[in-house]
Amino acid sequence: MRSIDTLGDLRGKRVLVRSDFNVPLKDGVITDDGRIRAALPTLEKLVQAGAKVVVMAHLGRPKGTVDPAFSLAPVAQRLGELIDAPVTLAGDTVGDSAKETVAALEEGQIALLENVRFDARETSKVDEEREELARAYAELGDAFVSDGFGVVHRKQASVYDIAKLVPSAAGLLVVNEIESLRKATEEPERPYAVVLGGSKVSDKLGVIANLLKKADMLFIGGGMVFTFLAAQGHSVGKSLLEEDQIDTVKAYIDEAKERGVDLVLPTDVVVAPEFAANAPSTVVSVDAIPADQMGLDIGPESQKLFADKLATAKTVAWNGPMGVFEFEAFAAGTAAVAKALSDGSMFSVIGGGDSAAAVRTLGFDESTFSHISTGGGASLELLEGKVLPGIAVLED
Ligand code: ADP
Ligand code: MG
Repeated sequence: MRSIDTLGDLRGKRVLVRSDFNVPLKDGVITDDGRIRAALPTLEKLVQAGAKVVVMAHLGRPKGTVDPAFSLAPVAQRLGELIDAPVTLAGDTVGDSAKETVAALEEGQIALLENVRFDARETSKVDEEREELARAYAELGDAFVSDGFGVVHRKQASVYDIAKLVPSAAGLLVVNEIESLRKATEEPERPYAVVLGGSKVSDKLGVIANLLKKADMLFIGGGMVFTFLAAQGHSVGKSLLEEDQIDTVKAYIDEAKERGVDLVLPTDVVVAPEFAANAPSTVVSVDAIPADQMGLDIGPESQKLFADKLATAKTVAWNGPMGVFEFEAFAAGTAAVAKALSDGSMFSVIGGGDSAAAVRTLGFDESTFSHISTGGGASLELLEGKVLPGIAVLED
């Protein structure tokens, strides 16, 4: 991958940067600014180099139309606070306001274009449409730095097409992410354990297929575990269940056995009658989930089982919380996995937006993990062994 240094002297040059500022918002307030902080090293490096920095980013899913609810205004403000300098937000993405904003930039200043997904061409499946938008971006910059790790698996105008039009390079975050994730996926020190959780089994099936060929241990928790339990013949009550995936999951269970992969499923779960913070919770064995209850976390026996086995691993990749950690009553499973990695000396990588947020909100010291990825989908695709378009385009 080409590094920023390959772009030469950037003083006075307009440098487009794709960052991942897709932060969680609640009532217009940013609830976790981790992604903005992760973008700072590259932005600061460019500022110090005297570049005129033009940041492109998306927020949420405005579906290709201008929707003020998805304005990057809260991000511009937070970024300004973090770098301690004003950040101008253009009123549009590539229109008159964007052009004026960029023209007014001085060396070492940062401006932010409005949400790139306000323009339907950004995510179009039609190459010509994306390329047309990329040409409009190219008018706003002399070089391009790809630093939005969370989007490098996407073939989108501000990620992929722009990189072909102007001299381009990977930012510091992308370089760091790729190095850490390769270390945890390509030739991991063994035993190699992978922990998967979260809500959608179908999202993570591709990963399981690839990991069964690589991992020594595969731990399943979160909402997706109930499809595994159902595949084993257990009743799962009102728990999340993807019935159409049961057969695929059965095949994975068989494959794990054949390959000698230790597939670790919970033996007990925390259940409640409804999905709510204050729902009364009980612990039941996985073969006794009541019909009118739903599983919202792995139980205490499973937490110990997971933690003890994880402690023996030399490399751990973790994606997806073990339970509904947003509610205190169902956070213990996620906390137990986090603690095992935090206490252990293994090389540990955490991927997934919610998993990373969980580690932070549960109060763990981020420095006790080897790497916390800012990219959910991108880190999953690396686990899956896929080639990411936004990375391939930066290779020589
Ligand atoms: P990540 O962003 O880390 O990849 P996902 O987006 O796949 O993770 O899933 C995260 C969500 O899964 C969390 O909001 C969490 O509340 C939810 N979740 C975890 N366990 C369960 C469960 N048993 N039932 C329903 N939702 C769950
Ligand atoms: Mg998520």
